[in-house]
Amino acid sequence: VEPQGPEENTPSGLRGVKNIIIVMSGKGGVGKSTVTVELALTLRSMGKKVGILDIDLCGPSIPRMFGISNQRVHQSSYGWIPVYPLADKTIALMSIGFLMNNPDEAVVWRGPKKNSLIKQLLDGVYWDDIDYLLIDTPPGTSDEHITIVEALRQYSPEGAVLVTTPQAVSVADVRREITFCRKATLPILGVVENMSGFICPNCEECTNVFSSGGGKDLAEEYAIPYLGNIPIDPELTKTLEEGGNFIEKFPDSRVASTMRTIVTNLI
Ligand code: ADP
Repeated sequence: VEPQGPEENTPSGLRGVKNIIIVMSGKGGVGKSTVTVELALTLRSMGKKVGILDIDLCGPSIPRMFGISNQRVHQSSYGWIPVYPLADKTIALMSIGFLMNNPDEAVVWRGPKKNSLIKQLLDGVYWDDIDYLLIDTPPGTSDEHITIVEALRQYSPEGAVLVTTPQAVSVADVRREITFCRKATLPILGVVENMSGFICPNCEECTNVFSSGGGKDLAEEYAIPYLGNIPIDPELTKTLEEGGNFIEKFPDSRVASTMRTIVTNLI
């Protein structure tokens, strides 16, 4: 069924979106996509309608986290129609992965091709009514980030959430993100420290594997909000591999309660 589109026959772009949040990280593998997915599921559990735009060219992993990596999207006269991974249609997902023939395709793309695809994804998706659009970006601060920030400026995004791990290297990378956001006048909504301690599957006690508190110190140093720290939870890894909904499956877990704190700090 074709959705009810805007009056004129043009893609709605981001006009139906109330709040835009950009999720960034200094480097790959720190859990940026995981945090994006859990933010979406937590917002949903609070009754919000959420969109996720996955433009992580280095590895669009969000479709897999919802167990729908083989989906294809189709285009209507209003733009690309996102995929709804959950039966109640409370989460809409558009991923650059839906447009690739294989996950490594973007590696060989030149900058202009990447930038033009990113622009198309920012303007050409039919989001309908969405309370929060979460944008998962590539790691680091590249030309693509400038494209994203420039293209979004007209929509006044709420700002960026910066994801880091406790290790110093990653924290040093986040410093570059902070500088980038400040230069680009993109508000920083706060820092999330992920993989902060390990939840033992047997006793549920949290052990600090790496030094902890890096994210908090950094937030204090730069006077930006510290949103919270998410422990490593093997159940989270497993649930994501299965494409399941962790927040619904483990509502009493440390991860789920931390996510609620983070979202409450955010909205
Ligand atoms: P990024 O988007 O930064 O490259 P991902 O979100 O893909 O990183 O996460 C990398 C891997 O780490 C994934 O397999 C994910 O399931 C796992 N992971 C991330 N955060 C956690 C966590 N807090 N607990 C357990 N596993 C995690």
